[in-house]
Amino acid sequence: MPASPIKTWSTPVAEEGSRTIPCALCGGERFLPALSCEGFAFVRCARCGLVQRNPQPTSEAVSARYRERHGDDYLDYELSNETAFLRLQNLALADIGFDREARGSFLDVGCATGALIAELRGAGWRTAGVELCAQSADYARRERGLDVRPTAIERAGLEAGGFDVVHASHLIEHLNDPRSFVREARRILKLGGTLLVATPNIAGFQARLFASAWRSAIFDHLYLFSKRTLRALLESEGFRVERTATWGGLAAGSAPAALKAVADRAVKKIGAGDVMMMRAVAE
Ligand SMILES: [Zn+2]
Repeated sequence: MPASPIKTWSTPVAEEGSRTIPCALCGGERFLPALSCEGFAFVRCARCGLVQRNPQPTSEAVSARYRERHGDDYLDYELSNETAFLRLQNLALADIGFDREARGSFLDVGCATGALIAELRGAGWRTAGVELCAQSADYARRERGLDVRPTAIERAGLEAGGFDVVHASHLIEHLNDPRSFVREARRILKLGGTLLVATPNIAGFQARLFASAWRSAIFDHLYLFSKRTLRALLESEGFRVERTATWGGLAAGSAPAALKAVADRAVKKIGAGDVMMMRAVAE
């Protein structure tokens, strides 16, 4: 068995005010144990199967955590990884068939320092971003002259039907209320507009192999979606899923390169990659 990869960067486990809420997907109130991590756990909704932290920290605690942890150190982290993150985002966008030549209006939710929208603006797109971390949002505005609002999408004051594309990479799994995000994305998209959502895939090969040691089973993630649960959420808020892509068979460094290459190809073929992106059209 390959070595368990190091988990994705997360804030340390903290005691926070928490409460049990109905399932964000189906409203169910009965949960079964799913993953048991050090100091926290995930449960699975008995009705729809959505894996989630429940009880979960309150949205006030979560927002405060993202605002406060994001000091200069975090901005340094974002900036030093910016090129690598942008490269991965561009690979995902190409994989899902994002039409870079369309040059419409593009909103990046959780846009960090704005590297992606800066690039798209240079390619002729009208762009905007929202980013909870004030330092990152400030950097995007000050250094790049981008329209980036330091708030959650629901409070950004965005006009209804104003965007051709809404993109959210590794965001939805952090939100207390993923349904509210999807609903707001639908509201601000034009009819026929595109929603692009990237998130870890709990039905993927690595999640099954590593279970509670899976690199995405971290404190910061409140929901862990499968293709089935993410599709159900999008479809229940007025989207039609057009395409899903997954990628990542084994984490870099967890297995010999040749084995990793074989695993990467195999999981891609069967849609069991570690991360997925879903492309959905607003109906
Ligand atoms: Zn449920």
